[in-house]
Amino acid sequence: MTDLSGRVALVTGGSSGIGLATVRKLRSLGAHVVSGDLTPFPEALDAVTGVVADLSTADGCAALVARVRDEHGRLDAIVNNVGIAPTRNGFETITDDDWLLVWNVNVMSAVRITRAGIAMLRQSGNGSIVMTCSSTARVVDPYFVDYAATKAGLLAITRGLAEELGAHGIRVNAVSPGSIRTPLWDKPGGFAEQLASRLGTDVETAIERYVRDERRITLGRPGVAEDVANTIAFLVSDESSYITGADLPVNGGSVKHI
Ligand code: NAP
Repeated sequence: MTDLSGRVALVTGGSSGIGLATVRKLRSLGAHVVSGDLTPFPEALDAVTGVVADLSTADGCAALVARVRDEHGRLDAIVNNVGIAPTRNGFETITDDDWLLVWNVNVMSAVRITRAGIAMLRQSGNGSIVMTCSSTARVVDPYFVDYAATKAGLLAITRGLAEELGAHGIRVNAVSPGSIRTPLWDKPGGFAEQLASRLGTDVETAIERYVRDERRITLGRPGVAEDVANTIAFLVSDESSYITGADLPVNGGSVKHI
């Protein structure tokens, strides 16, 4: 993939899962990376700055972009990746606070960081914005109704922004992962345990059933974080220089419609 030496990328949710794999990949291609997350960046990686910030808040987002400006004075790529995906148990049980938290983390972080970063991206000449959306935006799943709404919203923002920013040489794309086995699944109380409790089995049996019967994943397994990170790096790099307003699926074939 194209060399990214001299470029600066901002990645949100970069301390775990897809975000962490993306930071490693962009760094391996030569980029300087600033990563924002609630959790400190987990390893010492040359030319990677880990910023601890609550990206559900305006202040957290502003601090992250300010750090990029102070440290590098330029920005070439934004990867709006941070997201939470709580399993719900009936529409009536989802409170206003539940809705607002998932909206603030999944949508408003991308809105605030992008808005603050556009001026630097304009100067880049190779500006690229990537939104981590989800196949859940396009498939019906009542257990993720609020999450799906945030990801559908991000897709709409992706398309609208691509239209506005194309004239400034900034490309805006989405990547839509399907089922990717990350700490979002495997952390205590994470998706895997929630699934096991819903299906009344142990975790591995629940995942097997989910892959085979619920998601009907063509490739027969969940993906790994690197599957998505490689696609994000492609969208950041010049190899995708004529792609904008697109949504690239990384789902092992689970979304069946055309
Ligand atoms: P992950 O492993 O849980 O990583 C997400 C990171 O974001 C964690 O380090 C988390 O910190 C951090 N974070 C959460 N809330 C935050 C906040 N308010 N401020 C700053 N950081 C915060 O998740 P992932 O699976 O890599 O998911 C990454 C993205 O892919 C998300 O947008 C998700 O919706 C999307 N996605 C994932 C899948 C999948 O199957 N994994 C499928 C489709 C889409 P803590 O751990 O401290 O909370």
